[in-house]
Amino acid sequence: MFKGSPVWHNVSMESTLLGRFLRYVSIDTMSDSRMAGSIRPSTPGQKVLMQMLRTELEDIGCTVHYGPEEVLQGCLAGNIDGEAIAFMAHVDTADDVPGNGVVPIVHSPYDGKDIVLDGVVIKTDDNPDLLRYRGGTVITSSGNTLLGSDDKAGVAIIMEMLSILSSDKSIPHPDIEVYFTPDEETGHSLDVFPYDLMKASVCYTVDGTEEGVIDIGCFNASAATIKIQGHAVHPGEARGVMRNALQTAAFIAQALPRTESPEATSGEEGFYAAMSISGTAEMAELSLILRDFEKSGLRHREEVLRNISESAAMIYGTEVECMIEESYCNFRDTVASHPYAMKRLRNAASSIGLGIKEQMVRGGTDGAHLASHGIASPDIFTGGHNLHSLSEWVALESMEKSLELVLAIARGDE
Ligand SMILES: [Zn+2]
Repeated sequence: MFKGSPVWHNVSMESTLLGRFLRYVSIDTMSDSRMAGSIRPSTPGQKVLMQMLRTELEDIGCTVHYGPEEVLQGCLAGNIDGEAIAFMAHVDTADDVPGNGVVPIVHSPYDGKDIVLDGVVIKTDDNPDLLRYRGGTVITSSGNTLLGSDDKAGVAIIMEMLSILSSDKSIPHPDIEVYFTPDEETGHSLDVFPYDLMKASVCYTVDGTEEGVIDIGCFNASAATIKIQGHAVHPGEARGVMRNALQTAAFIAQALPRTESPEATSGEEGFYAAMSISGTAEMAELSLILRDFEKSGLRHREEVLRNISESAAMIYGTEVECMIEESYCNFRDTVASHPYAMKRLRNAASSIGLGIKEQMVRGGTDGAHLASHGIASPDIFTGGHNLHSLSEWVALESMEKSLELVLAIARGDE
């Protein structure tokens, strides 16, 4: 086990991919969900990393656009004819646990045992995938922060791909566009996006999880805010007069089907989830999210929530306003309508002998936003595990496999 810089010299002289990754995770880019939506990017460190990537893209020989959208775009000119293809990753990290001041630790060769960090033990019993990388190179944080493989592994893989394509002119490829977005973890990454620059109709996001997994669709998602106006009076004189807003909110949360909650569902089942509740007898607010892989299923859930809200208003005599907004859409249909996207990916995988597992992700990706603009965006693994947590880890070998795959996609291997 080696700590701190220049750790990669001890581990793998050859791996500039590892060097890139360690460089990127050391920059503080935790996004701030309270600021996102009013300030873009929500934290200044994201801009620092964008500027670093901008310089690196220029050094590689890409044309670069970094405009008011705060999305960094680079394009490497192709050396063959053919439709441009695009790749995308996000530079911010989640704020579920501390995400700044990351000190990456490289475990190489990884001995196949539990990994003991500051206050956190990454157990092989809970992480059987770790054993695939015994003898290889596993990277964790110190245990005090997340690591940031979501999605700096994706950023490093894309940058390394460009560097290889640019330095070896014998590799055939069409125009390659790359996009780095801010504030993905806050849901604001594509609030504005330079769609007019995008020539590609397929944009592979490199923001997935374990080795070999390709996400070909995601949830349809809505967010609901329920505002309740009650009538507060002295509890001792409340009989027949008080109309309790907080009780109304609690009733609505309780009335959601328990068997259709996040904790009771998996696979392709959707859910209702209460996320926050606050208020008093006078006024209360309840926030929920709704998820379903089918659009009709999501519409049904929205209807059920409206019906429950109406019933609660009648029972408690309060005024209930239920506002529902669509958050993102399943990109499955857009991917299916561009058969070329998955054909190119499957051909690339088989050309490097990689078995892939195509699945629907129980969440959203930037691809879900691109889908609404008709751009197909399957999501490629990076190798990251236990994302958004202190026990996050990634194996260098899985990042290298992802790099091999994006290179084969760029080449258009048959
Ligand atoms: Zn991500």
